[in-house]
Amino acid sequence: MSTAPNQPAAPLAPATVAVTAGRPPRAQGGHVNPSIPMNSTYVSRGVVTSDELSYARGDNDAWHAFEAALGELEGGTGVLFSSGMAAIAASFALVPDGGTLVLPRHAYQAGLVLARQVAERHGVTLRYVDIADTDAVVAALDGADLLLAESPTNPMLEVADLPAVLGAARAAGVPSVVDNTFATPLGQRPLDHGADVVLHSVTKYLAGHSDVVLGAVVTRDADLLARFRDHRTLHGAIAGAFEAWLALRGLRTLALRFERAQANAAELARRLAEHPDVAEVRHPSLPGDPGHERARAQMTGFGAILGVRPAARPGTSAAERADAVVDAVRLWLPATSLGGVESMLERRRRWGTETTTVPEDLLRLSVGIEDVEDLWADLDRALRA
Ligand SMILES: *Cc1c(COP(=O)(O)O)cnc(C)c1O
Repeated sequence: MSTAPNQPAAPLAPATVAVTAGRPPRAQGGHVNPSIPMNSTYVSRGVVTSDELSYARGDNDAWHAFEAALGELEGGTGVLFSSGMAAIAASFALVPDGGTLVLPRHAYQAGLVLARQVAERHGVTLRYVDIADTDAVVAALDGADLLLAESPTNPMLEVADLPAVLGAARAAGVPSVVDNTFATPLGQRPLDHGADVVLHSVTKYLAGHSDVVLGAVVTRDADLLARFRDHRTLHGAIAGAFEAWLALRGLRTLALRFERAQANAAELARRLAEHPDVAEVRHPSLPGDPGHERARAQMTGFGAILGVRPAARPGTSAAERADAVVDAVRLWLPATSLGGVESMLERRRRWGTETTTVPEDLLRLSVGIEDVEDLWADLDRALRA
């Protein structure tokens, strides 16, 4: 039985790639979806070539469909990891002992905590930058060994000038890693802006249903690809077969989910900015937001995470005021994490490890795909309570 190619030759739009990439071949009676292969080892004898399976920690066909799909979306080769943090750890391992790492002062907090440990244990110098301050980032690249960028940043939603900072890193010979968790490959493709590596917490938008923890990197660089795979194998930072399958299943609806979440987020940002019980709203969709013009120039949409600070109340501390809003919502889920179909919020500084320049009363809202009027009614009531 002949098998037709899975895809037409013309380049497909990202929303189509999310649905089609990583499908099994079109054989008569063949599977529409990849199966879940459960194997710790594969039949092998003698010398094993790099494209042959031998032991499941080194390479595993359970990962291939998701890696192919994410790789196609970002424009490189995907490497699936057990979590976003495992992918961050593998990235930091690119910095030699005694080397220098440039990183955003506001970024995913566990990544920053790990950077401090790496600095202590491996004599690595950390150069913190405001990732939105292009001149500061460029100045910090001198003699550095790695640039970690995040845009928009978690949880402050600062927007980097990605073409400028990634171009400068490339010119300076400094490898760059961009955490693209907030924007997703549908919002921006950092490799096209000059990044060497794109990193994801697959846990978030890509899987999208708050039911798995996974991570990934994507790169076009053969040497970096080999180093990430080697790190994954030797540190055992590998995904389970079912989790990989769930992530691909989630990815199939990414375009729809993200479109709806972004539309909801922009509408809520607009309304919250005029709310009497709100002191500040951070979201690049707002014309007054510092990242607005940059996001318009380099992103498709503005993402679906909001930063909201409730207006102060006399006799109540900033933290108490924000906690009261979290306690008052009934539809929004009080939980950490983001990028799921369900809307969530939390006060970031409740974590002792969150950066202290993040305001005590900053609520991070991950806007989901529910009806926007229901989301608004719940938030409005909680803010007024
Ligand atoms: C959650 C998150 C991570 C860490 O990913 P895990 O899958 O939780 O390990 C990294 N970066 C960003 C921006 C995140 O939001």
